[in-house]
Amino acid sequence: MSDATKDESRPGDGTRVVRAGLPEPVKHEPTLPGPVFAAHFHLPGEVTGPYSYGRDDNPTWTLLERAVSELEAPGREDAETLVFASGMAAISAVLFSQLRAGDAVVLPSDGYQVLPLVGAQLEAYGIEVRTAPTGGDAQLEVLDGARLLWIESPSNPGLDVCDIRRLAEAAHARGALVAVDNTLATPLGQRPLELGADFSVASGTKQLTGHGDVLLGYVTGRDAETMAAVRRWRKIVGAISGPMEAWLAHRSIATLHLRVDRQNATALAVAQALRQRPEVSDLRYPGLADDPSHKIASQQMRRYGCVVSFTLPTRARAERFLAALHLVEDATSFGGVRSTAERRRRWGGDAVPEGFIRMSVGAEDPEDLVADVLRALDESAG
Ligand SMILES: *Cc1c(COP(=O)(O)O)cnc(C)c1O
Repeated sequence: MSDATKDESRPGDGTRVVRAGLPEPVKHEPTLPGPVFAAHFHLPGEVTGPYSYGRDDNPTWTLLERAVSELEAPGREDAETLVFASGMAAISAVLFSQLRAGDAVVLPSDGYQVLPLVGAQLEAYGIEVRTAPTGGDAQLEVLDGARLLWIESPSNPGLDVCDIRRLAEAAHARGALVAVDNTLATPLGQRPLELGADFSVASGTKQLTGHGDVLLGYVTGRDAETMAAVRRWRKIVGAISGPMEAWLAHRSIATLHLRVDRQNATALAVAQALRQRPEVSDLRYPGLADDPSHKIASQQMRRYGCVVSFTLPTRARAERFLAALHLVEDATSFGGVRSTAERRRRWGGDAVPEGFIRMSVGAEDPEDLVADVLRALDESAG
């Protein structure tokens, strides 16, 4: 793990997450005020903010947005976060608010499986969509004349990593904006704004909230000016989070540090156990010292995530393996406290082999989980 997990200039991550976004204490009030359910707020006379109508703003969002800003952009007073109904709502908000007909955008060719659908929609609106793989900083080669560079690092599900600082500098030199999908890393694993990005965008559905019971997304932008169009987009489209979801997310962030450290350490243990197995190929975990992503990851990430990917020889073998697991649910998504795994090819979207498994490592005891995985590999043989 990179030595950057300890940051001398501010309190540790555990201290920061339990306090993130909390209001000043008020006698007889709870530490984290409950969800505010309101479609409209009392508003006599002139229309003044902050709270007028529930699609524009909500006090429960405000606290969560402050929490995310403190984690994504500590010490940067200008940074601004907006929460959304889902990760896709947040991603779409950046892409559709920043791009106009005639612009060009660079997307990763190996990113989240809904990105190609977004790309097709952008093309329908007259935007030129270019794609290149995450690995090898290949997006550099198609940057000329682009208005926006979209980075996903580590990429999902392939776990390739690109040099965010290098790509951001090259994009800015050409006048392009830079957005990074920070879902897999979480803000405790990587802080894209410090690496030069204009936007850090994520699905809060995954490890940020970590219990598999909330859909959420957010955009953290460099400053209010950069975020103005994103805010306007949220108002136009109305892709807003319910107050209950926002409150659950804020409550869950208090344990982010505990979950991330536990899950990521166990992910490394699982990866180390898998690499001993002859039937496992193309094992990927950016935290493994000999992983192709490790060198750049260790320079820009503070933690390497809870996702491990690998390939079993055939589809049948992969299906038998998944069925034989007791502690790992066959389910999509990742980042939750209960381990999940799936044969990614079943969705049809990603360009991965039939036996490709994406495993999300949960908060179970590492010995139990490793034993379960090894036993399921044995039982699924032959
Ligand atoms: C899940 C995911 C998304 C989409 O998030 P939702 O909350 O499901 O809309 C976007 N990017 C990545 C990398 C993801 O894993």
